[in-house]
Amino acid sequence: MAVFNFSAGPSMLADEVKLEAQREFLNCVNSGMSITEMSHRSKPYEKIHNESISLLRELMNIGDEFEVLLLQGGASQQFDAIPLNLLVNKGRADYIITGNFASKAFQEAQKFGDVSIAASSKDRNFAYIPNVDSINFRSDLDYIHFTYNNTIFGTKFTNLPKTSTTLVSDISSIILSENIEVNKFGLLYAGAQKNIGPSGLTVVIVRKDLIGTCLPICPTMLKYSVQTENNSLYNTPPCFSIYMATLTFRWIKKLGGVDAINKINKYKAGLLYDFIDNSKFYKNPVDIADRSLMNVPFTTPSAELDAQFVKGAESLGLLSLKGHRSVGGMRASIYNAMPIEGVKTLISYMEKFELSQK
Ligand SMILES: *Cc1c(COP(=O)(O)O)cnc(C)c1O
Repeated sequence: MAVFNFSAGPSMLADEVKLEAQREFLNCVNSGMSITEMSHRSKPYEKIHNESISLLRELMNIGDEFEVLLLQGGASQQFDAIPLNLLVNKGRADYIITGNFASKAFQEAQKFGDVSIAASSKDRNFAYIPNVDSINFRSDLDYIHFTYNNTIFGTKFTNLPKTSTTLVSDISSIILSENIEVNKFGLLYAGAQKNIGPSGLTVVIVRKDLIGTCLPICPTMLKYSVQTENNSLYNTPPCFSIYMATLTFRWIKKLGGVDAINKINKYKAGLLYDFIDNSKFYKNPVDIADRSLMNVPFTTPSAELDAQFVKGAESLGLLSLKGHRSVGGMRASIYNAMPIEGVKTLISYMEKFELSQK
């Protein structure tokens, strides 16, 4: 049975990417070895590593003033690495709290400096994004941090704070799904397992002038300067995840790049939101202007029906639709690799499920 996997992460990969990995697995780039067995200091590996960085630069239009680092530890490790590397001039940063990951980032940063909450949408269970133009950020900050797309709550920022302070953003669940103005930021970071490839890889895009000094307690492995000097090969990198990322980057490029895939993403999300908005049975809790294109939470009229919905969906191969425990209901994660057909199949199941309740 064909399945459509709506998991928030690790999530679907494109069939083309998986087939290429399968085809090459016993003999990666004519080395006679699989990618998982190769020295990370070997020529064939180095080629894949560097192609990954240059393709990401091309797809995201990343200028020469930025370094692209391929790290481990997940986005969560960057919750520590960012303050350890950036709280160096003023020792102060402001965070916008729009969900669980933003809160976790804030909690970690608090250990390393004078870190404060500039705005939060907790009052309505994170169902909206605070208006960035009315936030009063403190002065003399090293940076402002926000979570661009909130994977659990299904919200995303559409406007960036207008400020001369360095902007830092967690783009784990939005990277490569739409154009991000990289040059408006000092640092962007993303765990790979949402829109890039398997877990194990974390991408960090950091402006070169922010690399150099860090807090004295910063562990060597977390220093952007050490990773930069070693082209992210200070120790063994997550070779397989980087290889899979390279295949995904090639796939996106072949499709026409980020703008082309963004058109498809808007279409897919539009189908689902239109269906929900035209239904009296299903609801999405998020303010319309702040809706994510990647993660779509929704509910039926009761928790019992939600559970029935998820069970019925699974039997049809529509997988991982159960919502996060802090929101309840369902969540459809429709990242780049989710085909239009997957969203249409979900909607036709939603129609049938609703009718079966009448
Ligand atoms: C999944 C996710 C994380 C956590 O990522 P890890 O790589 O598991 O640490 C952090 N932020 C956002 C926005 C996410 O979607």
